[in-house]
Amino acid sequence: MQQEDYITKLLGFQGFYVRDMEVERDGDIEKAILYLGRTEDKYICSLCDNEVTSKHSSWLQEVRHLHIWKYQTILRFEKVKVRCSKLGLRG
Ligand SMILES: [Zn+2]
Repeated sequence: MQQEDYITKLLGFQGFYVRDMEVERDGDIEKAILYLGRTEDKYICSLCDNEVTSKHSSWLQEVRHLHIWKYQTILRFEKVKVRCSKLGLRG
């Protein structure tokens, strides 16, 4: 198992895997940045549970997570706005 696979397992976020990791320094704080990728290339509409394969737009979301030893862990992952075939454009 590769290093990223271990981290993916530790993180335990369904539907995501850790595709990259880096350490950033912010003053005295050392941050471990985890870049998350989606395990599947499809999305679920949050309103009607319709399965959506095309996205309208996306942006990078950053979430503070727990500390790993001395590192503040930051999760970075893509948030998408989907184009639902039933409801039209939705977040
Ligand atoms: Zn929908």
